[in-house]
Amino acid sequence: MHIDIFTLFPSMFVGPFGESIVKRAQEANLASIAIHDIRDWAPGKHHQCDDTPYGGGGGMVMKPEPVFYAVEAVLGMGPGDPPPCPIILLTPQGERFTQQTARELSCHERLALVCGRYEGIDERVREHLIAREISIGDYVLSGGEPAAIVVVDAVIRLLPGALGDPSATFDDSHASGLLEYPHYTRPAAFRGWAVPEILLSGHHANLSRWRREASLYRTWLRRPDLLQAANLSEADRAFLRRLETDPVREGSPDRQDP
Ligand code: SAM
Repeated sequence: MHIDIFTLFPSMFVGPFGESIVKRAQEANLASIAIHDIRDWAPGKHHQCDDTPYGGGGGMVMKPEPVFYAVEAVLGMGPGDPPPCPIILLTPQGERFTQQTARELSCHERLALVCGRYEGIDERVREHLIAREISIGDYVLSGGEPAAIVVVDAVIRLLPGALGDPSATFDDSHASGLLEYPHYTRPAAFRGWAVPEILLSGHHANLSRWRREASLYRTWLRRPDLLQAANLSEADRAFLRRLETDPVREGSPDRQDP
């Protein structure tokens, strides 16, 4: 997969993309990321990329020309040509980014992400260049760069080979509509707090049932809304019905009271 990112602040990506899974995916040629400074395509001596809003009001607006020129040049498109890949605008007004969105995006060979700044980008960019608008949540960031970092991280870890254990994402929270079960590692006891015994038992069938129930229980407690769309077996449903009458799960680290 190749990802082009268009930004006025290219250095913001250096740290996040130079570490851990995203770094390793690039080194393994599973993903390549190119950061493009929109300012390089801004006409004029001063490479001006923003201007005051028509109609007045505070703040600045990103000018359309540098964004169109940058995206068209990098993607090899003439004005009005169909783009070779989805061109995505990060905006608090877009569709909410979810694990499902990350999965969909991970199936593309190429993506282009456009980061806004200031009050946002001239509306003609959204109307005539952008295919999809994505928000990472109902809050306002100072720029699209942190949102692009979130999207790229969530997408790249889904690429085959990006994680050491390919099954590692299967049980992740939101992968199948549930929250994941709790994790423990050594030591088995710390300050008198013991790891649930079943995890030390080596009994695989009991362990996988414990994990499934822990996952259902945690979702039921914290995000019951997710259960509506989750893929549940008859055993899962029976377990959830039991919780309605007996909500305390023996040995669970989850508590009902906050
Ligand atoms: N005035 C805009 C509005 O109210 O919709 C917000 C502009 S915000 C200060 C500047 C830029 O940050 C946006 O153009 C967008 O690229 C990015 N941004 C802010 N919040 C975001 C979010 N929740 N998800 C994705 N991008 C976001």
